[in-house]
Amino acid sequence: MAVAKDFPLEKLLSGWGLNGAKDILIWPGYAKKLSKLCSRGNLEYMKDFLIVSYCLESSFYLDRESLEKLKEFTNSRLKEPIDTGETPEQEEMELMFDKYIGSTPMCGAMNRLYCEYFFDDECVGDLNSIVAEMFDSFEDMFNGEEWMSDEGKAACIEKLRAIRVHIAYQDFESVDYSKLDIKSREEGGNFLEAYFDSKRFAALHIAERLGAPYDINYWDPIAPGLSTTVTNAAYNPSTNGIYIFAGVCEAPMYSLDMSYEEKLAGLGAVVGHEITHGFDNKGVLYDKDGIKNSDWMPAADQGMFVDRSEKVGQHVSTIKPFPGSGLYDGRKVTAELTADMGGMKVTLMMAKKHPGFDYDRYFMARASDWRTNVPIEVESSRLSQDPHPLNFLRINIPHQQFEEFYSTYNITENDRMYIEPGKRIAVW
Ligand SMILES: [Zn+2]
Repeated sequence: MAVAKDFPLEKLLSGWGLNGAKDILIWPGYAKKLSKLCSRGNLEYMKDFLIVSYCLESSFYLDRESLEKLKEFTNSRLKEPIDTGETPEQEEMELMFDKYIGSTPMCGAMNRLYCEYFFDDECVGDLNSIVAEMFDSFEDMFNGEEWMSDEGKAACIEKLRAIRVHIAYQDFESVDYSKLDIKSREEGGNFLEAYFDSKRFAALHIAERLGAPYDINYWDPIAPGLSTTVTNAAYNPSTNGIYIFAGVCEAPMYSLDMSYEEKLAGLGAVVGHEITHGFDNKGVLYDKDGIKNSDWMPAADQGMFVDRSEKVGQHVSTIKPFPGSGLYDGRKVTAELTADMGGMKVTLMMAKKHPGFDYDRYFMARASDWRTNVPIEVESSRLSQDPHPLNFLRINIPHQQFEEFYSTYNITENDRMYIEPGKRIAVW
């Protein structure tokens, strides 16, 4: 509050119901700027700013005409309109799920309904046992890394064993929707009011959480970015937590009745990918309790990791993914490709412990899970913007690093997928 000086931060927060919080952190530079701008001379500008911001935000929740005007206005400020490659139906769905549900506390209610209707409770036990097996294989993997010191291995294993595992169900009970009073049209309510009511409710929810002791295990149903309906898994360094969202627990990535090989090729490799992020150049910045501190990993091991990662970037930079594309900028995709190869390595280590493991089924499932059929323009824009390699490279490059792939398909020096052992680039 002292830094914000002339800016009425306290009043603003209490207007949002946030006055019960013990501590609120705000970037001091931002608070200082707010204070500087908040002067009588700027009053008219501030009013204009607030009106424009209100109109822009509200345009999504008024009628179709306002939304179209907003799009027109946004496009007029761009050098060229953004081509998302989406059909009008897809854009409509995105509006519904991203804007109306995803960015309001409705997201939490939707997450809960999704789990109730579409997530099979029996998956939790199965996924827990796969993850437990995976942790054991990660431990074997760290112990087997010749480039790591004994201290580095022990530190990685300590952090690994502290990872909190979250599967599908968020802490739904922590959101009390009885405090959200949305009026129907008959009661004189409208969509815009409902949106602002829900925003106030979200602030109240945050205020309640701020008043409670910090719980690193808490998985907020209305936190943007951690919604359980998405088709993904995630690692969050600040909680040292892995999140397996309900949305990804579906075929082809996972289903209870799949073979073990298909489970490892799909969701298994994805979860392995996410866990390795806890140990890469970004993950290393946080310790086992999610605190920003990179001392937990010996500096020499961190240096070795960087050296090995650079080889990944150099290798990818020699690839021309499709005619007319030019060469790849390998540095851009190094972190994600390293995680792909790490996820694959750990699943192959799990496979070794299962007699009769069908490697052909595993490799084929991996390739078919990630197959795509998209226009070259979409592939080109992914090439320049996506930190993940193109899908076919997310399959081909990791496969090329492991002996199991060569032996399953009898690949020799004469085959184009062959890379001689000394030139292989898997970091882990
Ligand atoms: Zn990743």
